[in-house]
Amino acid sequence: MTRQSFAARILAAALGITFAVSGSARAVKNGFYSSTVDIGIVVSDVEKSVAFYRDALGFTQMPGFDVSPEMAGQSGLTDSAPFQVRVMVLGGEDTATKIKLMQIPQGANKKVDNRFINSSLGLSYLTILVEDTGKALDRCRRAGVEPIKTPYRLADPMKYLTLVRDPDGNLIELVEPGPPTPFFVHGDDRKAPPLIQPPDGAGKPPSDAIVLFDGTDFKEWQSDKAGQPVRWKIQDGYMEVAKDAGGIHTQRQFGSCQLHIEWATPAEVDPKKTGQSRGNSGVFFMGRYELQVLDSYNNPTYGDGQAASVYGQVPPFVNVCKKPGEWQSYDVAFLQPLYNEQGLLIRPGRITVYHNGVCVHNNYTIRGTTNHKQIARYGPPQDKGPISLQDHGNPMRFRNIWIRPLPEEVPSSQLPPAPPAP
Ligand code: MG
Repeated sequence: MTRQSFAARILAAALGITFAVSGSARAVKNGFYSSTVDIGIVVSDVEKSVAFYRDALGFTQMPGFDVSPEMAGQSGLTDSAPFQVRVMVLGGEDTATKIKLMQIPQGANKKVDNRFINSSLGLSYLTILVEDTGKALDRCRRAGVEPIKTPYRLADPMKYLTLVRDPDGNLIELVEPGPPTPFFVHGDDRKAPPLIQPPDGAGKPPSDAIVLFDGTDFKEWQSDKAGQPVRWKIQDGYMEVAKDAGGIHTQRQFGSCQLHIEWATPAEVDPKKTGQSRGNSGVFFMGRYELQVLDSYNNPTYGDGQAASVYGQVPPFVNVCKKPGEWQSYDVAFLQPLYNEQGLLIRPGRITVYHNGVCVHNNYTIRGTTNHKQIARYGPPQDKGPISLQDHGNPMRFRNIWIRPLPEEVPSSQLPPAPPAP
């Protein structure tokens, strides 16, 4: 068996889906995805039970999964008590029987009388994998069996989970797995990512970057002062903040992105200017979240305000500033915050920063819009925003600015199969 087909079969077994050995074709028989049922067993000590089924009986442990309080309660599996499921499989065939072991601390956990098979009735539950929940429920209803609750929508690419009871009250779950994913781990049929040309040297843009400033003009920029032209200077391939000119921001709007920017603080240091008044500027993502630019070479200030800090929130891991006047770089991966349709924040933004090639933030979770002397909070929903450069009253220089908008997330069609439903 090739590694690919072995991986395919292991994943298919985890999902309880019957696949042909060749890979993606699904064998549906009489409305079922699988000709075997899975057995769920609630146990008192899941580690002991896993060891027993694995070591004493020869089962193989598969990837397990979590059941959230919401899923447990809405489907009717438990009274909202969450739990973890360990999946054990008997042999390597597509139709091998699976046992799902779970320990549920929040519950009655009464032990059944199991001195003999006729000492008490019942089992924890069975899982039957159906092709179509609607058709399966039609058949149940024709036989006088109603589902306990409405079908519970599972996470993509799985579809539905519905509970019914047998005449003794044993729980039977009908799981509709959803379409098979088009590939398996290490599969050859994954879509290749777009081909781009690598940068022509350190700090240079790759071929898919949008160049925001190449040293020649401000066509990608506008002044923060509405209706006014950009009054910053351009010379020798860099831009420089001009007195009272105000900040500038990109004409285009961006969300998640990779940004490269180079900056230099004034070479001549005015000893009267210290802390935040020496070489201050800032790079704002979506116009709201500031990555601080400051002369932090022998210039103490508060930690969450020094160069490469997420301003007002967190200092960088290290201070890797160069001397005043020397060119420095930021390379940033920014993940934009997300809001739901009601305007509530459902995922904060995140930022990873390399300062002069050194990682100084590793996927930091942004607390909110940048403020001065206030705890950061997220503002109203925003889909995209500009990259902004701050005028803080110092003749700061910037050059070689480019950006690559990044995709929001990997589409589910490009991911391995989701964990199986209980
Ligand atoms: Mg600043």
